[in-house]
Amino acid sequence: MKNRPPAMHALLNAPALQDYPKAPLKALATALFKAHQVTPFACASLNEWVELVKERYDSLMSPPLKLLYNATGVVLSTNLGRAPLEASHLKELELLSDYVNLEVDMQTGKRANRCALVQELLKVLFGAEDALVLNNNASALVLVASVFAPKAQNKETLLSYGQLVEIGGHFRAHELLDCVTNLKFVGSTNKTYLQDYQHALSSNTTLIVSIHLSNFSQQGFVASVGAKELLKLTTAHKILFYEDLGSLQSVPQVQKSLKHAHLVSFSADKLLGSVQGGVVLGASECIQKLAKHPLYRAFRADKIQLYMLSKSLQAHIQGQTNPTQRFLAQDRDALLNKALKLLQLLGGVRATLIETTALVGGGVADSGLKSFGLLLTPKRNFKELHHTLHQQGLACVLRYDGVLVDIFALFEKDLNTIASIIKNTL
Ligand SMILES: *Cc1c(COP(=O)(O)O)cnc(C)c1O
Repeated sequence: MKNRPPAMHALLNAPALQDYPKAPLKALATALFKAHQVTPFACASLNEWVELVKERYDSLMSPPLKLLYNATGVVLSTNLGRAPLEASHLKELELLSDYVNLEVDMQTGKRANRCALVQELLKVLFGAEDALVLNNNASALVLVASVFAPKAQNKETLLSYGQLVEIGGHFRAHELLDCVTNLKFVGSTNKTYLQDYQHALSSNTTLIVSIHLSNFSQQGFVASVGAKELLKLTTAHKILFYEDLGSLQSVPQVQKSLKHAHLVSFSADKLLGSVQGGVVLGASECIQKLAKHPLYRAFRADKIQLYMLSKSLQAHIQGQTNPTQRFLAQDRDALLNKALKLLQLLGGVRATLIETTALVGGGVADSGLKSFGLLLTPKRNFKELHHTLHQQGLACVLRYDGVLVDIFALFEKDLNTIASIIKNTL
């Protein structure tokens, strides 16, 4: 075999690797040797192998996340970490280098519920009877169905064919539900009527779920059943109606949904603009059942999540906006000014100011928002430029006619740095 890898001891004892811890180097080298057997590397000398192992080690020890400037025109992009967090809230997290009263009541010194404050905040903000916080909204789907229509007890959940949607990252809420409950689909892709639910009801049916269509919509020959009717139907049959609201469109919308569902849930890191988390709101009796189920323990939120979510909710209650809301509130003048400022900072770079459409990610419907962008049209390969900008930390859009820097989701404070990146790259 050509390009034989060096002996492990020779590699590990190479002078250039003296200051590196041996055990991880050995693990990396073992993996490299294995990969080399499948597809041989070009490394010929011991030195080249040393360099390769060093490179792998340094990349393993690099900062876990790197800064990206979001010139994609998509706010709440899951790839880019969904909601940017409030810097002042993050600074307070240093508190967690000490012990904290996560599950201790400061007055009594007794064991307490770690979610007590966040639950009170949710109840106040949304006017809900009771609230529960989970690790994410996907857990809410699993927990609600596990508690109220468990497969193990042959219980059934009704779901409209019209709500079998895929949101992004291959996420399909119904596939998750299918793991824990017997799903019975009702109606058709475009039309579902109340009688479809009525006909499908059996003595085993204990739950009706409605899933927000997210970034998908239907037009034309369509019909669906409103929450009000489904609440009436489920109440009459003494079963439960649960609405997965997805991204949470607005606080008033949740308040309205709560009137027409026994339980609702949504993500904390979409339009609520906070950390990853799943919020479940609804009737106290139902929430208590969820909290008592063994699975709840598997989905519980940790102290960093709870701290950050509480801070976001406190800010909301006090009428403060979060970074995502501030992006969404930008008017035409603000957007145009931001674009012109960047254009000016770019000096002589070949760039054209154009109108664009910004989007809200995270499964938010009808999110086409007017925005502006700078279309870079250098006399070089657009694909290569797009790639290089990405490597420099500027997430932008490759188009057939150039590389688009959409200004919608760029922070004003970053424009100077972004201009430098572009100028240095071109
Ligand atoms: C995003 C979304 C989910 C998943 O929420 P996560 O918090 O990412 O787990 C579930 N249902 C709908 C409708 C969604 O939009």
